[in-house]
Amino acid sequence: MQNKIRVRFAPSPTGYLHVGGARTALYNYLYARKNHGTFVLRIEDTDQERSTEESLKMQIEDLKWLGLNWDEGPHPENLQDNGEYGPYRQSQRLSIYNEYIEKLLESGKAFYCFMSDEEHEELKNTAIQAGKPGQVNSPYRDKSLAEAKKRIASGEKAVVRFRVPDQEVIYSINDLVRGKVEFPSTMVGDFVLVRSDGMPVYNFCCVIDDALMKITHVFRAEEHLSNTLRQLMIYEAFNFEIPKFAHASLILGADKQKLSKRHGATSVGQYRELGYLPQALNNFLALLGWSSPSGEEILSIEQLTSEFSIERLNSSPAVFDETKLKWVNASHLRALNHADLWQLIEPILKIANINVPESEAWRSQALELFKSYMETLNDSVELFKPLDIQYYEISEEAKETLSWETTKVVIEQWKKLIVQKDSEFLTEEQFLNLQDQVKNDCGVKGKQLFMPIRVAVIGKPHGAELKTLVPLLKTTDLIARANIVLENM
Ligand code: GLU
Repeated sequence: MQNKIRVRFAPSPTGYLHVGGARTALYNYLYARKNHGTFVLRIEDTDQERSTEESLKMQIEDLKWLGLNWDEGPHPENLQDNGEYGPYRQSQRLSIYNEYIEKLLESGKAFYCFMSDEEHEELKNTAIQAGKPGQVNSPYRDKSLAEAKKRIASGEKAVVRFRVPDQEVIYSINDLVRGKVEFPSTMVGDFVLVRSDGMPVYNFCCVIDDALMKITHVFRAEEHLSNTLRQLMIYEAFNFEIPKFAHASLILGADKQKLSKRHGATSVGQYRELGYLPQALNNFLALLGWSSPSGEEILSIEQLTSEFSIERLNSSPAVFDETKLKWVNASHLRALNHADLWQLIEPILKIANINVPESEAWRSQALELFKSYMETLNDSVELFKPLDIQYYEISEEAKETLSWETTKVVIEQWKKLIVQKDSEFLTEEQFLNLQDQVKNDCGVKGKQLFMPIRVAVIGKPHGAELKTLVPLLKTTDLIARANIVLENM
């Protein structure tokens, strides 16, 4: 029987959660959920200079926002360890790493190296000249451990290096995305496991943790393929069972260069700020390097979970297409019911200082009208703004309309007829009738009729369909707007 599936997302808290990281987290999450496995969140914070608590908190907030809940790792609220395989922060696992380093030193598979930077540089150059760039083996690889420990006890600084095989060995994995990948051992020289400040490096911690946390599958970005050789050597040195690897495709910008800040927003937090929905971002990210068997492109997290499989992960680079992301977002947004959509829009309107009526019926009517124009939640700002009278202003392009001889009577009549109504709002039908009445009363038609009324409602002669917009404006508002125009004529 196969062991219970255990996967992990292992971010370094050195900045924001990048969209590439979010995709890795998503694939791990989907695979765990689909297979009733366990999703572990492990924090790789051994780089003390770059890791911050603030970044950890931000990344956790972003994962929570995406709904990619983990079963083990720092608790999402209090960040305390939650699970049987902790600690889940590498900075709290140093004694474990030391224990394993000691084993490698004792067995001669690792050694203390006292090489200076200059010596190292020299060896590197010699290797390059000999046409074997990776092969920098340390002169300390065969020195006695007892001797090295004495030097360290007397205050000398050393790194711990892995002793790579003397003869070339071909390491290989059956990558679940890329198939068989081979790595000749000569691609690397005796590599560092522990820095001279005592901090173990990523490749080492990652293997120890994946082994001790019983990780069965490692889903991660293609960039890490180059680390796999060193990791395989460490697995072998401890006789640890090797997990299955799946290196997902690279993510490129529209110009086919690796996605970076140059291309625009690249962090999950930025997309949240821009008014994207978490379900849309998950949907879009899933499709960067994976496709659904049904061919569907708009998928809920439940659908993604049930349709996800490694077989459909693609090894060729995926292009991060913002236009597609907008389309995916718009599709999810339109699928929301009005109450849920309003809840998301309300705080955005509040921040933009846009005041709109309280009534639920009004909101539903407004959303029905605007939903099809909205790609992101933030689009609501420009859509709702014309409904708040404080933003009503007469545009430059209205000047011509206002100069026509008949404009004034049209607007005066428009206002007079509204004043006669005693309802809070006009229905679409009432508006159309009222417009007809203005036409008859003033003897104008066509643009001479429509443009002045549009200016009196939205401040400009073109744009929004009045029959849908007018029913959203209070009659008192319509009158106030007409007054502003009349005063400016
Ligand atoms: N800490 C590494 C990163 O943030 C994780 C790599 C891995 O998944 O092995 O990229």
